[in-house]
Amino acid sequence: MKTVVLGAGLLGVTSAYYLQQLGHEVTVLDRQAAAAAETSFANGGQISVSHAEPWANPSAPFKVLQWLAKEDAPLLFRLRADTRQWLWGLQFLRECTPARTRRNIGQIVKLGLYSREMLRELRRETGIAYDHRTQGILHFYTSQKEFDAAQKPAELMRELGCERRLVSPDEAVHIEPALAHIRDRLAGATYTAEDESGDAKLFAREVVRLCHDRGVRFLMSHTVTALRAVGGVNGMQIDHVEATDAEGRFQRIRGDAFVLALGSVSPLFVAPLGIRLPIYPAKGYSVTMPVVDEAKANQVSLTDDEFKLVYSRLGNRLRIAGTAELNGYDRDLNRVRCEAIVRRVEAVFPGAGDTAQAQFWTGLRPATPSNVPLIGRTRLPNLYLNTGHGTLGWTHACGSGKSIARIVSGLAPEVDFAFTLTNATQAGNV
Ligand SMILES: Cc1cc2nc3c(=O)[nH]c(=O)nc-3n(C[C@H](O)[C@H](O)[C@H](O)COP(=O)(O)OP(=O)(O)OC[C@H]3O[C@@H](n4cnc5c(N)ncnc54)[C@H](O)[C@@H]3O)c2cc1C
Repeated sequence: MKTVVLGAGLLGVTSAYYLQQLGHEVTVLDRQAAAAAETSFANGGQISVSHAEPWANPSAPFKVLQWLAKEDAPLLFRLRADTRQWLWGLQFLRECTPARTRRNIGQIVKLGLYSREMLRELRRETGIAYDHRTQGILHFYTSQKEFDAAQKPAELMRELGCERRLVSPDEAVHIEPALAHIRDRLAGATYTAEDESGDAKLFAREVVRLCHDRGVRFLMSHTVTALRAVGGVNGMQIDHVEATDAEGRFQRIRGDAFVLALGSVSPLFVAPLGIRLPIYPAKGYSVTMPVVDEAKANQVSLTDDEFKLVYSRLGNRLRIAGTAELNGYDRDLNRVRCEAIVRRVEAVFPGAGDTAQAQFWTGLRPATPSNVPLIGRTRLPNLYLNTGHGTLGWTHACGSGKSIARIVSGLAPEVDFAFTLTNATQAGNV
């Protein structure tokens, strides 16, 4: 079966890998010259099953309102004359009820546990390396209020099989000695020993190398311009994809099946087919800097819940990432937000990294209102989705890639998850 994967971010390359394993003849298209050059380029580096609480939760509406005019807010809605943004915002509010939050955490944890297992299997089988660490993830809290609010979701995650346990401030410092500097400000912490971290871009490019070796064809510097369907209302299916190559030459790429993994721009390509995907870009920032003092820099991957930042150690670099800004497809660097991150890093780990050499980056998370990704079939029988992974695209990449490969192959997925077309609330229009 000839299968075309649109997009060579984390979700596209893992889809290609597992599709090839199941015997597909795979072609991957991407507008960039290399894989993982957009949102998968410089993320927070966490494989964090424990980071399962979605942005949409019962406390979110109040916080979002409070943060509306705050330039350095962790989650900032910049209201625009953009119907898609407003619709997304309304759907986001609907996901904030306790029942929906509970349901969404359940989905996110189940996919996360499966995905982490698949990542380990892939590593065992192929031996790939990507500055990964298997020392767990420690969530720390410098606000008692935030710590108290985290108890219930953490308990739910434990019930669902995510081993996120409560630890005292002293134990937190024992797990990550670099936190000693802020020991007196710690209200508490949780630790998930099974979680991991690493360089997502390096991972994606290693997966591309494996795919190349196994015969997957990559058409890089190819920009998809349209998905063309044939057939009437009931028999409609994708015939080919239109693209332009690096020289601007027009191409038609045909296949038996098509997997849409175009990240935050995915909805724009299926809207003309009458398929509405509830995905909106949520801009995040990361800062990468060289470590200058080993003793002061973290080894264990950390989540700073009050500031919604994550800190990962990638070889001899520190990567700090977080914050979200809903402001369309703009990827501009906002100095205020960059400075807020650097200030926090200096407060938590003074002298650990060389802030003068900090490299700033922004990426657009393909965010759904519930933070539950869209994986599975659409009503066009040969068009599949693997997109909308929001804050957890790397954590969920291997599990999503393997699941979509199985679905395209007519096999049952191995994880209990609300795949599209089986889940009316998530994907009623797909
Ligand atoms: C600041 C930040 C921190 C994050 N931290 C974490 C973390 O710690 N852990 C975690 O699990 N997740 C994290 N994420 C989320 C994760 O990075 C994303 O969910 C993931 O990268 C999305 O991957 P994707 O393949 O869907 O999208 P992308 O990586 O954006 O891939 C889409 C691909 O489609 C291509 N494309 C787009 N348009 C076209 C076109 N017209 N033609 C051809 N190709 C096209 C792009 O070039 C791109 O390569 C973070 C995200 C951000 C922004």
